[in-house]
Amino acid sequence: MFNLNSPEIKFALRATRQASLLVRQVEAELVSPALTKDDRSPVTVADFASQALIGYLLEKTFPADPLVAEEDAAVLRQTTAAPILELVTEFVSRFIPQADSTAVCKWIDYGQADGGTEHRLTPRFWTLDPIDGTKGFLRGDQYVVALALIEQGQVQVGALGCPGLSDGYRPELDGQGSLVIAVRGQGTWTTSLAAPENYDRLHVSARSDPIQARLLRSFESGHTNVSQIDRFARALGVQAEPVLMDSQAKYAVLAAGKGDLLLRLLSASKPDYREKIWDQAAGSLVLEEAGGCITDLYGRPLDFTTGRSFTHNRGILASNGSLHPAALQALRAIGA
Ligand code: AMP
Ligand code: MG
Repeated sequence: MFNLNSPEIKFALRATRQASLLVRQVEAELVSPALTKDDRSPVTVADFASQALIGYLLEKTFPADPLVAEEDAAVLRQTTAAPILELVTEFVSRFIPQADSTAVCKWIDYGQADGGTEHRLTPRFWTLDPIDGTKGFLRGDQYVVALALIEQGQVQVGALGCPGLSDGYRPELDGQGSLVIAVRGQGTWTTSLAAPENYDRLHVSARSDPIQARLLRSFESGHTNVSQIDRFARALGVQAEPVLMDSQAKYAVLAAGKGDLLLRLLSASKPDYREKIWDQAAGSLVLEEAGGCITDLYGRPLDFTTGRSFTHNRGILASNGSLHPAALQALRAIGA
């Protein structure tokens, strides 16, 4: 079992669980794209509320720790966004009774740390995607709350709140979501989001024959390169069609041995896209501590020391470990 008394682990579990429960309340009461950011991705009341809640908890628990998180409150402070800010504040105040709109914006902006640069290492920080897979959330599909602790460029703790994934161990709680936690050197564990009492250890699959491999990819075709994934699958000999799923829930599925390979190829319309650290940090440790392997498309380890985006990595290949060498070879063969 992992060390349940560690303050960092306790914080990661509490923060992702509370944020996931908050997001579920928003989901039940009002799912609609609230605002549009510059990159035109939908941002909902839930993204802001989740980040505000975790920003508040982090500032209270580890006041010296920076937070590198996806959202910022600039758009919420515009007068036209007042009704949205009011809604965000209403949901946050269910968990933090003293919340008001000024405090909510401040807690969201707690996440504006840069995580260091190539020339300036931030020794310790947290990274958060308050809702990874916002488009899945809006569609009623998979999404997660993803939080990770990074020390000296290494992910030490990764937590995924997965409201749409059952933990697979407690049928009586099916449909109530799961919480997945990985601690470096201590494994990956899952529990029920509704009743987080018993933890079960996760292990990747032992599948080594690519013919039977189950390949996961983004639901959104714009986040990857669908025709190249098809070529990859042919080169490797994978027979089944890829499974489409939003968010780092894919890593939880791989860690549980219910999938074998995951690809993030570069979209033809955004060849210079760089992955964000909050989209990979928690999921990468969840996979590795379950026995899996994650690299970029060239087999390089993910470098978490370059700030908010990975500037030294391109794309992602994740696997159960056994299939990694053959998958890298297939990527080279198709020139990805
Ligand atoms: P997924 O649900 O696996 O498609 O991943 C969702 C994440 O993809 C979002 O949180 C975005 O940060 C990220 N994303 C947005 N645009 C792109 C893109 N063009 N290529 C790859 N990832 C992207
Ligand atoms: Mg994301």
